[in-house]
Amino acid sequence: MQVSAPDEVRAGSRGYYRVPVTTSVSGQDVHVTFHVVRGARPGPTVGLISTSHGGEFLSIEQIRAVVTGTDAAALRGTILACAVANPVAFEQGRMTTPIEDQNMNRIFPGTAPAELGARYAGGVTELMAHLVTHHVIEPADVLLDFHLGPHDQAVETIDVPLQTTGASRDRIRAMGSLFGVTLHEWELFPGSAVGYAVSRGKLAFGVEIGGGGFGNAQSEKWIAQAERGIHGVLQNLEMVPGAPNYPREVTLFGARTGVRPRYGGYHVPTVSPADLGNWVEEGQVLGRTYDVQSFALREEMRSPHRGILYMARGYAPVYPGDWAYAICRAEGVTQWTPPRG
Ligand SMILES: [Zn+2]
Repeated sequence: MQVSAPDEVRAGSRGYYRVPVTTSVSGQDVHVTFHVVRGARPGPTVGLISTSHGGEFLSIEQIRAVVTGTDAAALRGTILACAVANPVAFEQGRMTTPIEDQNMNRIFPGTAPAELGARYAGGVTELMAHLVTHHVIEPADVLLDFHLGPHDQAVETIDVPLQTTGASRDRIRAMGSLFGVTLHEWELFPGSAVGYAVSRGKLAFGVEIGGGGFGNAQSEKWIAQAERGIHGVLQNLEMVPGAPNYPREVTLFGARTGVRPRYGGYHVPTVSPADLGNWVEEGQVLGRTYDVQSFALREEMRSPHRGILYMARGYAPVYPGDWAYAICRAEGVTQWTPPRG
């Protein structure tokens, strides 16, 4: 049900509201939409953010599954969700906001309209980031920010911010382990949603499960996997009944290497999404790029070292300098055992 403000969503129900951002040059209203699933009983607040990068879209379905599939009457606490944090970039399928070419996930907490004059660069992205901060990040105790592959790029990992320590890090690891993928521990950008949230003392991590254009069965698997992970997080926080289904152990890694196309062309992968999370050997061929005019082999992409593959490409054009594959460094891989009970 559409409401005009979050307070209008009563205990034990859900609703959504739109917040105006601006009017586009052609006179279209630009707004950001927020969903509230308010539990029947008070408890923690979990924030879900997706598509601050406009080319990443499978997470919209992952969030829709959770928002529409959660029984508010049985929920303790609140879920706040923004499925399309950057609708201007999403409209054009772009990672950055087209008007100003700005990366939303580098500028949190954004800027309020009255403060915009003090900024040298960035306009509408700053305003949208400010709304997402105000409506989701600040009220949240736990924040999950969804990033995954755009078209023809698949990713499976959880981003654990290295700027957290001790008990906070362990709580994030435990929640992240419920998604059934590796945990990538790195210093997330200070202006990312997760980087900003942890600077505000919140528990926050990135969820990167899936990508676009890998077919219905694979897409449904990734949506269900993310849904199970989020359900596990809600169980971890005792917002829904049941014990979280922690894995016996989870793989952690730190440093990684990107395999990036030196040349553009048509890319034919030799690994598939089923290989994500598996070990690859030094020198292993991951895919080949062919010239679309002459059909000449343009580039053979190989793993630069032994490690775990967590990003891969589909059968599709690749652009020079883009991302094709990512492999963690074997020497940084450790196993971590989530606490029980
Ligand atoms: Zn992203």
